[in-house]
Amino acid sequence: MAPEDDIRGMPELPEVETIKRQLNNFIVGKKIKKIEIRLPKIVQLMAPIKFKSLFQGTTIKKVSRRGKVLIISLNNNYSLVIHFKLTGQIIFIPPRDINQKIDKHTHLIYYFDDNSCLIHNDIRQFGYVRPIKTNELDEYFAGQNFGPEPLEKDFTLKKFIELLKHKPNQKIKPLLIDQTFISGIGNIYSQEICFCAKILPTRLIKTLADRDIKNIYKCLKQILKNSIKYRGTSSDTYLDAQGKEGDYVPRLRVYGREGKKCFRCGGMVKKITLAERGTSYCPSCQR
Ligand SMILES: [Zn+2]
Repeated sequence: MAPEDDIRGMPELPEVETIKRQLNNFIVGKKIKKIEIRLPKIVQLMAPIKFKSLFQGTTIKKVSRRGKVLIISLNNNYSLVIHFKLTGQIIFIPPRDINQKIDKHTHLIYYFDDNSCLIHNDIRQFGYVRPIKTNELDEYFAGQNFGPEPLEKDFTLKKFIELLKHKPNQKIKPLLIDQTFISGIGNIYSQEICFCAKILPTRLIKTLADRDIKNIYKCLKQILKNSIKYRGTSSDTYLDAQGKEGDYVPRLRVYGREGKKCFRCGGMVKKITLAERGTSYCPSCQR
């Protein structure tokens, strides 16, 4: 796992899904008039000058998501694959707001022909955009060993049980955030899922009863869906595609609550470091 994929609240599945849904309303059909690259290293796999000439004049066809990665497909048979990492932001700016929204953390600007634009901000600069041929996207994600999408219909309880069978000696929380196991879950939602299922983050897979696995599965789907409903968690720098904070923070049950009373049992929430990540849990009601 990449070391930058750490402690604080980087965008996970619900945050990137929120941005995806919003951008499908905001930018599909718009034509890119001009691209401004202010930080060349944010563009990977291609020289900035080639990147500009390849995408200037193209039209946005579709916005999609794979795990924590945003995909903007253009009508030139290429897609922009955007990795947010720790502090990436993708924000749509209506024409009147351009000057007040662009700042020193804006590294890439796509200007549309109606004078709106899409900006790519990144404070810590771990994120990047890669141009990938649209018909090679599956190959790209397979090459990076992306695990299954937890909100897809084919991610059934049966499939989850099958996946867990292969990992008997792993601990549940680090396994949930392993992107090759399942795509899209990170440090925030893995803690919320364990709390919801009343399972200790350190539990070994082989010690889980059928009922535990069912609970984890149910909580996983429920929490991700609910967070999307509230446009994600802005515990750090995450903003949605309108530049607004997500509303899920007040709904967090355990993440960031160390030293506070457990909402469920009144016990004290503890924090440990597990596989190099800060992890909060309630020792009284998670077993
Ligand atoms: Zn508790």
